[in-house]
Amino acid sequence: MTNLINPFEISEQVEFSADLCVKCNICTAACPVAPVTELFPGPKVVGPQWQRFRMNEERGDESPDKSVDYCSGCGMCTMVCPHGVKVMEINARAREKLYDGKIPLRNRALGRSELMGKLGHKFAPLANWGANLRPARIVVEKVIGIHRDAPLPNFKFQSFREWFARHKPQATAPVRGKVAYFHACAGNYFETAVSKAAVLILAHNGYDVVLPEQNCCGLPMQSNGEFDAARSHACRNLDHLAQYARAGIPIVGASTSCTLSFKSDYREILQLDHPDRDVVAENVYDISEFLLLLHRRGELKTDFKRVDFGGTLLYHAPCQQKAHNMGQPALDLFDLIPGLDVRLSDASCCGIAGTYGFKVEKYDIAMAVGKPLFDQVRDIGAGKPVICDSETCRWQITHATGAKSVHPISILAAAYGLMEL
Ligand code: SF4
Ligand code: SF4
Repeated sequence: MTNLINPFEISEQVEFSADLCVKCNICTAACPVAPVTELFPGPKVVGPQWQRFRMNEERGDESPDKSVDYCSGCGMCTMVCPHGVKVMEINARAREKLYDGKIPLRNRALGRSELMGKLGHKFAPLANWGANLRPARIVVEKVIGIHRDAPLPNFKFQSFREWFARHKPQATAPVRGKVAYFHACAGNYFETAVSKAAVLILAHNGYDVVLPEQNCCGLPMQSNGEFDAARSHACRNLDHLAQYARAGIPIVGASTSCTLSFKSDYREILQLDHPDRDVVAENVYDISEFLLLLHRRGELKTDFKRVDFGGTLLYHAPCQQKAHNMGQPALDLFDLIPGLDVRLSDASCCGIAGTYGFKVEKYDIAMAVGKPLFDQVRDIGAGKPVICDSETCRWQITHATGAKSVHPISILAAAYGLMEL
């Protein structure tokens, strides 16, 4: 005999998990957006409370108002809810219904990071210059609503895939097998140094790195309300990656929000009904997670050099990294590096939340959300790199404080002597 109501089974059904809410307001206390703007009534209200309105057939799935669009999707609410209410996921699905396929041009543009990278990187010096021209930014803000001061990525003329085709690192003995590297849009066109550091470290630890066919994970489209486009991108990725997952080849990525999409969003938010959804999810690893697992098996090389970055560094674990529910493996890896002293930031969010802080009506909210983090960056001292796993968070940290921001893998690559920081 089984219970009539098994809360763990119910929480698998995102919308129905609203019924588990006991109105304790723990999520409201954890939400970084609610305290800085009156435009967002908080996760308990827009999540489980208004879900009951949305599930009323007479209302036709509509939200009581549009404030759910002010949820940044950071996921803190889902992480802290003691009753398993999938608040962020409820909000994300409500956003799909809110837009109902009528996606503003601004949201479509922000969802196309892969297309931007493909077009922009071939004209990198010119594209970077043009994208930062003040008059152009003002026009873009007025016409489509991307804030004139929002941090933009920097196109790299040589994509990571082009570099890899010529400089693929050879696995160092003892050879342990293959790894499929998911570089994502940022890792291919903007943050190529992070991808290079990742594959150099994997090869140094005995892995033959292969680059599967891949496209954008779909998260930028999903978070901008374009669910159909996100689903088609997600399905194409699953088609490409399934052969590796079925062969037991680990799929490793350094873009923590993209790896989280495979592990969670494809099921919980996009509700993909794809035969390889779960086998891919089970074989996807964040790069720090993968390296820590190697270390626990006694297979990680620990020939790190002593480093000196001028004192204690600050590590900010981004929301999407925390949502992996794997602790902070980067901190465990840092403990292996002689001379490295890292302090964990206690700020919850930098505010950017993917493309949220790019939007003209949300830019100030994003900057207010990130203020506690920016203050900690300034306290720890200028001139030192701030460590953070997510590319958009790194752009936001640099934009707000002027500090250089690097992926944990870049610290490891420097300590191995494989790359300069
Ligand atoms: S933390 Fe969970 S149970 Fe508490 S109010 Fe928020 S959704 Fe409801
Ligand atoms: S996802 Fe983040 S911004 Fe949205 S309700 Fe939850 S805690 Fe607040």
